[in-house]
Amino acid sequence: MKKIVILGAGYAGMICAVNLQKRHMPFTLINKHSYHYFTTILHEPAGGRNDFDDYSVDITYLLDSPTSTFSKEEVVEIRPHDNKVVSKSGEILYDLLVVALGNAPEYFGIAGLAENSLLLRSLESAKTIRKHIEDQIKLYKEDHNPAHLKIVVGGAGLTGIELCGELSEWIPQLRSNYHILEEVDIINLEAAPMILPMLDAALQEQARDVLTKKGVQLRTSEKIVRVNPGEVELASGEKVEASTIIWTGGVRANPLVAAAGFTCDPRGRAKVNEYFQAEGFDNVFVLGDSACLLGADGKPYPPTAQLAQQMGEHCAKNITGLVLSDHPLKPFVFHYMGTLASLGSEVGVGNVKGIKTRGVPANLLKEASKAKYLFNLGGFRLLADKRGQFTR
Ligand SMILES: Cc1cc2nc3c(=O)[nH]c(=O)nc-3n(C[C@H](O)[C@H](O)[C@H](O)COP(=O)(O)OP(=O)(O)OC[C@H]3O[C@@H](n4cnc5c(N)ncnc54)[C@H](O)[C@@H]3O)c2cc1C
Repeated sequence: MKKIVILGAGYAGMICAVNLQKRHMPFTLINKHSYHYFTTILHEPAGGRNDFDDYSVDITYLLDSPTSTFSKEEVVEIRPHDNKVVSKSGEILYDLLVVALGNAPEYFGIAGLAENSLLLRSLESAKTIRKHIEDQIKLYKEDHNPAHLKIVVGGAGLTGIELCGELSEWIPQLRSNYHILEEVDIINLEAAPMILPMLDAALQEQARDVLTKKGVQLRTSEKIVRVNPGEVELASGEKVEASTIIWTGGVRANPLVAAAGFTCDPRGRAKVNEYFQAEGFDNVFVLGDSACLLGADGKPYPPTAQLAQQMGEHCAKNITGLVLSDHPLKPFVFHYMGTLASLGSEVGVGNVKGIKTRGVPANLLKEASKAKYLFNLGGFRLLADKRGQFTR
């Protein structure tokens, strides 16, 4: 039997693993944490909603078959010419490799941004953001420095906008808990002229209206050119002082992908064919945010969890066919289901299969998509165990 190794237990890697397990295919999954976290909804706990426990699941809870092996290790190098992966604790040989190591932040060369901003990209980073914001409120009680009451979120894509929605509901609670009468500014800065660029203009406008009414300052066409400790400088020359600066403006591939020598696009993503094989390496499949997969229009698909999941499921089917029956690989076809953005805990905006939705129905559809993911991953058992996400 061929040795199958999967790197990364995010949306692509975990779904690939669960689907290989369903088919009784032996594999080893390697991930740097012992848990899988629900990245697409991390804005909820980062912005004060629910317990962090609701947003992750132990990998061994999902991989309970004797044919599935999980190894908690941090990968430091991929050597595709030697069919070898190097982790902090040793070397792992493979016959077939699935690379699903996700992304790294894209700072677009903005000076000081990496050093002086927080990121929302993992369970730990969500905890850091929540604690940092609460700490600023406590500090304000001591020194009355108004910068503690200013939060800048850079980027108005899904992550930035959904985070602003959560903050707009949590901050009033925090002010009341700590008896702060002064306003807390939530300022979203975006270089492009619009928010949520994946949605059409009418939906963008609806999202803008909702968030503005909730007190979020949405400033589009505002390019950040430098970030100093506690201060953001804009192209206009304006300087915005803020003790909390969160960057959500873009991602590139995990740097291990380019370091491995795969042919990459300018964002460091491995160029893959319709079977996800990396150029020149038929036994290496690159999935999710680490892959540059071209759509019918010749442009790379944007990095999303829905693409990562579909790639993971398809890859598991292809690998099973190849290993068990020497079946030829089947080409992947992406089914775009739509995009939903929450704007706090009650309303949202988006489209599902081409149909526009907003307000409470959009939020209910978002909740349904969360439930569907949990079901796909761990069936009714996981859905029941994570019901805290839905009941508070
Ligand atoms: C707040 C937020 C909201 C989002 N909302 C949406 C949404 O509504 N819809 C949508 O489609 N997309 C959304 N996205 C994007 C989506 O989360 C990503 O596209 C998706 O997670 C990519 O899946 P992936 O498997 O490629 O990578 P990931 O899910 O990031 O998984 C990568 C895995 O690799 C592991 N790893 C990384 N480096 C190493 C290493 N060196 N050694 C071992 N393990 C390693 C990580 O721990 C992680 O488990 C959102 C993202 C964020 C941050």
